[in-house]
Amino acid sequence: MKKIAIVGAGPGGLAAGMILSYKGHDVTIFEKDSEVGGRSKVLKLGDFRFDAGPTFLMYVEILEEVFKRSGYNLREELDLLPIDPLYRLVFPKVTLEPTSDRLKNKTMYDAYIPGLGDAYIKWYDDQKKKFDTITPLLLRPFDSIFDYLRLDTLRAIPALQLSKTVYTSLKKIHPNPEFIHSLSFQAKYLGMSSYQAPAGFTFLPYLEHGFGLFHVQGGLNKINEKMAELFVKNGGTLKTNTPVEEILVENKKVYGLKVNGHTYKFDDVVINADFSYAMTKLIDPKHLKKYNPKKLEKKDYSISTINIYLALDKVFDIKHHQVIFSNDYDAYLKKILNNEFTDDLSFYIHNPSVMDDAMAPKGKSALYVLAPVPNLRGKLDWDTYKLKVEQILYKVLKERLNIDLEPHILDKMIITPKDWQDDYNVHLGAVFNLSHKLSQMMHFRPHNKFEEIKNLYLVGGGTHPGSGLPTIYQSAIILESFIKPEK
Ligand SMILES: Cc1cc2nc3c(=O)[nH]c(=O)nc-3n(C[C@H](O)[C@H](O)[C@H](O)COP(=O)(O)OP(=O)(O)OC[C@H]3O[C@@H](n4cnc5c(N)ncnc54)[C@H](O)[C@@H]3O)c2cc1C
Repeated sequence: MKKIAIVGAGPGGLAAGMILSYKGHDVTIFEKDSEVGGRSKVLKLGDFRFDAGPTFLMYVEILEEVFKRSGYNLREELDLLPIDPLYRLVFPKVTLEPTSDRLKNKTMYDAYIPGLGDAYIKWYDDQKKKFDTITPLLLRPFDSIFDYLRLDTLRAIPALQLSKTVYTSLKKIHPNPEFIHSLSFQAKYLGMSSYQAPAGFTFLPYLEHGFGLFHVQGGLNKINEKMAELFVKNGGTLKTNTPVEEILVENKKVYGLKVNGHTYKFDDVVINADFSYAMTKLIDPKHLKKYNPKKLEKKDYSISTINIYLALDKVFDIKHHQVIFSNDYDAYLKKILNNEFTDDLSFYIHNPSVMDDAMAPKGKSALYVLAPVPNLRGKLDWDTYKLKVEQILYKVLKERLNIDLEPHILDKMIITPKDWQDDYNVHLGAVFNLSHKLSQMMHFRPHNKFEEIKNLYLVGGGTHPGSGLPTIYQSAIILESFIKPEK
């Protein structure tokens, strides 16, 4: 049995804590906040509840595996509700509502443009094959450069389409812009635009179309609350309101943490706090080479978000997940890519009150709006900009959906990239971590077993395999293969 500390009770830290405590280790999670969840925690405005960050729960098989490895059954612990249609996509010319039914989607695309349905089927069937070859690379560690010579990697290389992006690979199947954008806006889950995201990621929408999307009664934050409860039930110790001040290292080996000015010794330390934040703020730079603060400044980071949480006095006809695409979505993507501002924004809206009465009082609703925006490398005055984004939102809703939201607002809260940095300890407010370009993925992403310091491990969006919930949960599963009980 080892004495293990985890820095942060985000989804990654909690999943790792659940698994490691079940294996018999003596695990303590230190969380700076009063509650668990990090970027995925619950936000409250009176009786209204919001998920701070993640709202899309996909590929739940990985979360099921986390629960299984911790001695529990996910479906017995949480209410997972399938979402149908998956989302409503509002383009200036057409509104599409894809489902997790391949043939229904074919009919939907054909009804828009005859023949588009065949392009969809080709895309779907290609993705199925791609998924089967690429997923093994995301399920296992990538600690050695020789991992690229393993059979599963070599087999996946054609599917990775190394010279293409998500955008160019879809354009080859059909040039219709709405077809391309409906199957590529998911690149934003990686904090990238479809012009940047490597073509391998075209399988992301396939995870939705092929396996469905889910909501958890009470919001996705409930997953964290449940994981915290089961972690403690497995014998773990959870210390909230306890920020870690320093990760202590000697002779290239971690030996403990500094908390409240005291030194606590541990055999192993797992970092769940944002990777680049932890490297710049929690470890003395003299212990770091490859990931010292100077080198980290040269890395590519994801975009950020402005999130607007609205407590409303009624429930509007907005789907559980809805995206309103900019008038000129191509121009918008290019602007975001260059960390530039545009008025022609795209909005993702989450309206869980249409299916979940735990989010707001009866007849009212808790509306979540996300606008992808540049990270803090884009030098903007966020206090002014957030008000501008809010006004653009109300205008777009009036013009595009005929919804006048403002008279119905009872209360509101806004989070900007600066808040993600200052309150959530997210480096540059880049909420989807280091970007997912190929030179920052797999072996080239910070390793789960941290390569610079012994007995130090990483879990969460900043390490392999990546920054969405399924990959974050998978990083906890991968960790288990490294942290073994001492003989
Ligand atoms: C707006 C938004 C929308 C998103 N939408 C989705 C989505 O729909 N689907 C999806 O799959 N993913 C989504 N994500 C991405 C990702 O799933 C979440 O960001 C997720 O919460 C990241 O988990 P994590 O464990 O890596 O880190 P975090 O959630 O950031 O957890 C890290 C924890 O470390 C704590 N911490 C930091 N510093 C210290 C310290 N010094 N001492 C102690 N504790 C510390 C933090 O308080 C936090 O609790 C979204 C993210 C955001 C921000």
